[in-house]
Amino acid sequence: MSIGVCYFPEHWPREQWESDARQMAEAGIEYVRLAEFSWGVIEPTLGGLDFSWLDEAVDILADHGLNVVLCTPTATPPKWLVDEHPEILQADPDGTPRHFGSRRHYCFNSPRYREETRRIVSEMAAHYADHPAVVGWQTDNEFGCHGTVRCYCEDCSAAFSEWLAAKYDDVGDLNEQWGTTFWSQQYASFEAVDPPR
Ligand SMILES: [Zn+2]
Repeated sequence: MSIGVCYFPEHWPREQWESDARQMAEAGIEYVRLAEFSWGVIEPTLGGLDFSWLDEAVDILADHGLNVVLCTPTATPPKWLVDEHPEILQADPDGTPRHFGSRRHYCFNSPRYREETRRIVSEMAAHYADHPAVVGWQTDNEFGCHGTVRCYCEDCSAAFSEWLAAKYDDVGDLNEQWGTTFWSQQYASFEAVDPPR
């Protein structure tokens, strides 16, 4: 059986990394998982990528014979990204945005978030693809935790309309099947249907 740990070198002084790695190796650990919440440290400003600290951490671990599993940092879009594109935030059923300050505050259906994700993971993959100590990747982290499966933002509302259009023949079919004559709930288009709040 192989044993691994998660490790957050960005939380610790650099002068400690060497002894951390040595103690992991001495304890019989073989795999170390890194970087799943590190977007803000890898990219402190838009396009200002800094892999130097992670390079150093990976190399120190490799020097001690440890295998590295790198994670996409996508569960924690940084503050500058949220400020520039607040539309990536999730929204509660009443439409209130879930603000920055925790994790998983992004919407899966946000085209802008997906674009930014594609950009950062491509940069990371290109940078570490050939590193001999990197033996695997984790994509995102704890998908759906903290009640983040359901979102009611504008992008989700649009996606819900598309889902309805695929499910029903036309909006008349939807009205028929939903019985919307009751209480004058008829819809004139799929776009007019709000997500169930
Ligand atoms: Zn959403």
